[in-house]
Amino acid sequence: MAEPVTIRLTNSRTRKKEVFEPLDPANVRLYLCGPTVYDRAHLGNARPVIVFDVLQRLLRHVYGENSVTYVRNFTDVDDKINAEARRRREAGAEGTLKELIRERTAETIRWYHDDMDALGAARPDHEPRATDYIPQMQAMIADLIGKGHAYEAEGHVLFDVRSYPAYGQLSGRSVDDMIAGARVEVAPFKRDPMDFVLWKPSSDEEPGWDSPWGRGRPGWHIECSAMSDALLMKDPEHDKSFDIHGGGIDLMFPHHENEIAQSCCANPDGKFARVWLHNEMLQVEGKKMSKSLGNFFTVRDLLDQGIPGEVIRYVFLMTHYRNPMDWTAEKVREAKHTLTKWYRQSGLSTSTQPYQPVVDALVDDLNTHEALAQCHALSNGGDFPALRGSLTFLGLMGDAIPGWARVPGFSDAETGVVRDILWQRSRARERQDYATADRLRDGLKKAGVIVRDVADGEPEFEKTPEFDVNVLDQVQADQ
Ligand code: AMP
Ligand code: ZN
Repeated sequence: MAEPVTIRLTNSRTRKKEVFEPLDPANVRLYLCGPTVYDRAHLGNARPVIVFDVLQRLLRHVYGENSVTYVRNFTDVDDKINAEARRRREAGAEGTLKELIRERTAETIRWYHDDMDALGAARPDHEPRATDYIPQMQAMIADLIGKGHAYEAEGHVLFDVRSYPAYGQLSGRSVDDMIAGARVEVAPFKRDPMDFVLWKPSSDEEPGWDSPWGRGRPGWHIECSAMSDALLMKDPEHDKSFDIHGGGIDLMFPHHENEIAQSCCANPDGKFARVWLHNEMLQVEGKKMSKSLGNFFTVRDLLDQGIPGEVIRYVFLMTHYRNPMDWTAEKVREAKHTLTKWYRQSGLSTSTQPYQPVVDALVDDLNTHEALAQCHALSNGGDFPALRGSLTFLGLMGDAIPGWARVPGFSDAETGVVRDILWQRSRARERQDYATADRLRDGLKKAGVIVRDVADGEPEFEKTPEFDVNVLDQVQADQ
């Protein structure tokens, strides 16, 4: 029997690293706030997805493959989506606003799947769309009104923050501090400037649903409360609570604070999420990613530049989720170099068992940085089967992740050797050692590998009928 494993996670609610004890080890329940589907996911959006992917892999490893329920929603009703559809209509797109919205959300969900699949992130067990849960949201809103936590005003329903004394506990702020610091929408019908919208009226052309408060649509926060309730808290035995709720640290206030207020007031006996996990933000070359700085890019932009999803994933794993992360060209180079080496070393191994120190790194608050350090130790120590098993566990080098490993006609090990030689060649060019660069190119040619250089990307290569793996190995060995 293996030792019982203790997982520790930093809980934003208590601000402490705590031993994680699931409510029900046979069904560990997770909720991650998903994207608002109006545009391609930017690189920052991938961070919580990868963090939660690592988390769910670890939980399945510890509690069993089928003992996790992971939910990540799609916010498919939102003013940003409406604005995007209006913009498209003004630019000449055909169709009603509703049709354009439907088209855009469906297209964005497809993109999101393609992009996150490319990063090796497993699809969650449930991916609810907000618009499929309108009745549940309305029921929760009615319940909150009935319990005195929400009120109706001019076609809106607002949550009354003063009715919930614990409001602000997650982010550690008082309501008065929040009013001073936040950009809150002041509306004459609000009892308190911090009160937030549960339901709001829709114009005829905007998406809307009939309700006791008039035709309208839900606010953003109520979506997550209703969907997590419907999918994770069905079992009354568990006290209307579930295990782990996550998202980027930017969502802590107001979004998560508001989710807690809604869910805890609707279910005063439950605890809602017991553990809150927040990832820090991603930056680019030391600066906030923003359109105005010209350093804003989507996951797809990087994939299209020829940076494989596996390399992107590796770069994310280099930084602990609680630290701010910097995306740099240097890290991309390092990731490619390391993965090339690891493919070469362990491409032919088939072990599926991770090395225990790699698991130990993850049980300690998902320390992916340390997990990669342990993989380097395996690589240096020559334990390639354990390396392979550990990489698969981390979501690298699996069948799930396309792009990097597989080149038609080459085995993984051969691909690794070719990439290693190409890497040496580009290093030689960088130091203007053209004699070496040419020798390597000629060596590849002699081994029967044709190389095509690609602007701003990894060179492409293919086999000729003269391919000879012994010559290839010799070229590498001569380095
Ligand atoms: P949004 O679509 O802006 O609601 O964001 C979707 C998810 O991406 C949320 O969990 C955000 O916290 C997260 N996120 C947004 N920007 C970044 C960033 N720069 N770094 C890390 N996570 C981010
Ligand atoms: Zn949410």
